[in-house]
Amino acid sequence: MPNMETRYIDAHCHVQFEQYDADRAEVIDEMRSQGVAGIVVGCDLDSSQKAVALAEKHEHLYAAVGLHPNHESSEWYDISYQRQLAAHPKVVAIGECGLDYYRLPGDTSVHSAEATKVKQKTLFKQHLALAIEFDKPLIIHCRPSKGSTDAYRDLIELLEEERSKDLNTHLNTYQNLRGDIHFFVGGVAEAQALNALGFTVSFTAVITFMHDYDAVIKTVPLANLLVETDAPYVAPAVRRGQRNDPLAVIDVVSRIARIREEDPESVRQTLLENTRQLFDLARP
Ligand SMILES: [Zn+2]
Repeated sequence: MPNMETRYIDAHCHVQFEQYDADRAEVIDEMRSQGVAGIVVGCDLDSSQKAVALAEKHEHLYAAVGLHPNHESSEWYDISYQRQLAAHPKVVAIGECGLDYYRLPGDTSVHSAEATKVKQKTLFKQHLALAIEFDKPLIIHCRPSKGSTDAYRDLIELLEEERSKDLNTHLNTYQNLRGDIHFFVGGVAEAQALNALGFTVSFTAVITFMHDYDAVIKTVPLANLLVETDAPYVAPAVRRGQRNDPLAVIDVVSRIARIREEDPESVRQTLLENTRQLFDLARP
């Protein structure tokens, strides 16, 4: 079956997860018939492999490979295997990777939480090195502890450190470092700092039932925004609590147009173009 014209790209979904085992083919077919392409993001070795397999099979799917910061204790980052996956032509990003301070283990022991942060940072730096090696963007998961911006502060510091290393060595590796901060939950200041470092921020269907991010969505230039679903998580308002799917990216796009009070069609086109550019996706 030929692909429909691509009208939307879900920059972050997990259609390889078991939540789709019963109807994965239907979901992927429905995406194609509605002109929705998607980046299938791995969280560990198994889901990264499955993402690559789906991208290999379907023209409108792409893959990202990485190890989620919450999996740092359950799995070793097998860099040589990750490197093999990363070399695949349909792997368009490295991730998801990053920092998650929301659910640190051993909350009773300060030492253990701190040790986990250190491990997460080390793991993130390995992804960063791989992104530079393959000249691919990063897909970053960054979640601060409750009521704080701690993880964003550390992430920004880490990226700035990388940039200054570059200035000192004149290797210019940083100039190619880029990516998306997925499921953005920070404020305007964090978004602007990350934009200045060459990163977009992306939003899910959370924005269809929460107004917490309206200020960021209105303030940040449209060129620095991406759309995603993080499906199977966070279904839009109309289907809240149910399993989500990448078609919800359509709701996210129209919500962004409404919040910014801009023409929905031109917002759709710009967001599509942003994703194509960042992940270097071929035009049909
Ligand atoms: Zn995810």
